[in-house]
Amino acid sequence: MSEMKFPIYLDSHATTPVDPRVFDEMKPYFTEKFGNASSLDHSYGYDASIAVQQSRETIAKAIGANMDEIIFTSGATESDNLALVGVMERNKNKGNHLITCVTEHKAILDTARHLESIGYNVTYLPVDEFGQVNPEELKSVITNDTVLISIMFANNEIGTIANISEIGRIAHENDVLFHTDAAQALGHIPIDVKKLNIDLMSISSHKIYGPKGIGALYIRSILPRVKINSIVYGGGQERNIRSGTLNVPGIVGFAKAVEIAYKEMDSENIKFKKWTDMMFEKLSAVGAKLNGHPINKLAHNLNIRFDGVQSKSIINTVSKKLAISAGSACTTQMVEPSHVLLALGLTEDQAHNAIRIGCGRFNTDEEIQIATDEILNALKSLAKIRI
Ligand SMILES: *Cc1c(COP(=O)(O)O)cnc(C)c1O
Repeated sequence: MSEMKFPIYLDSHATTPVDPRVFDEMKPYFTEKFGNASSLDHSYGYDASIAVQQSRETIAKAIGANMDEIIFTSGATESDNLALVGVMERNKNKGNHLITCVTEHKAILDTARHLESIGYNVTYLPVDEFGQVNPEELKSVITNDTVLISIMFANNEIGTIANISEIGRIAHENDVLFHTDAAQALGHIPIDVKKLNIDLMSISSHKIYGPKGIGALYIRSILPRVKINSIVYGGGQERNIRSGTLNVPGIVGFAKAVEIAYKEMDSENIKFKKWTDMMFEKLSAVGAKLNGHPINKLAHNLNIRFDGVQSKSIINTVSKKLAISAGSACTTQMVEPSHVLLALGLTEDQAHNAIRIGCGRFNTDEEIQIATDEILNALKSLAKIRI
């Protein structure tokens, strides 16, 4: 049996380690196959360009897209920026209204705020107690000026999966484009962009055991053909939509990560569900409440709260043994409660009591057992202090 490593990593929504199979695939592209994928005058560049094309095909096929619909970016943040700014600016003649929702990642919310600051009109839809947008409410806010709807596929804090097929249908029935941030969904649940009426989709490599700093934006090329402006200017790579020398090792690693994730998705989800169900069963016996949707959720996510116990205390108590977080990686430095949890209707106090557990590919049954016991022990010792 392999030596157990502490703290046990249970923060897979923030990032994941690179799978060794992904790393092996990437290695040659740092050293001997280092060519610029745009330098087609020699074999170095040619080999790199072949690797990029093969990777593009793997990623496109996995989501039901065509190769020419995949634009590589530095990650989901950039893809979100490109989708929102690029589509709104290019389609000014149609209107200036964007619809999104209050539980989005900051990459969407801050971009939407920027668009508001330069004159666009943004509607932030509320969500229900489970974190889902109401389709009827979505319909009611669409106007003749609406250009784009952007609703995330799966939430990074509570794991709630949106009713994407219904939202896509509503968008298309109203002649509005539909973007989804699928950074948390890719590789975890099946996605067919055509069946789901998705026009643009942001994806990222490092949430699925690929390297950091690489992602993509899927942009539909037919029915409808999505028109988009660039936000990065330069050498004209990626069909002039995203200039910059391609990150070939990153792209190769991203594709390998996608390939593995799709092969192992079903068996991993069975394992994750067993773990998160087991943890919730044991922890709810001592008062844990679930934040998010009981069924329509990512199998590896468990977001819970213990009313009366601050998440900070639990996280600090277990910190030598467990790497867990209170919420999104980008907001944990702040003292403000999670905007996602408040949107569910939780009070500020309740939101400060939430811990997020994100299981991953390299966790073991034994680690999950230890994690559960550590949290139970932390609760016991914290209860003693309070008495
Ligand atoms: C991680 C994440 C992002 C940011 O992705 P990067 O590739 O790190 O830029 C955006 N949206 C969601 C939902 C995420 O989980």
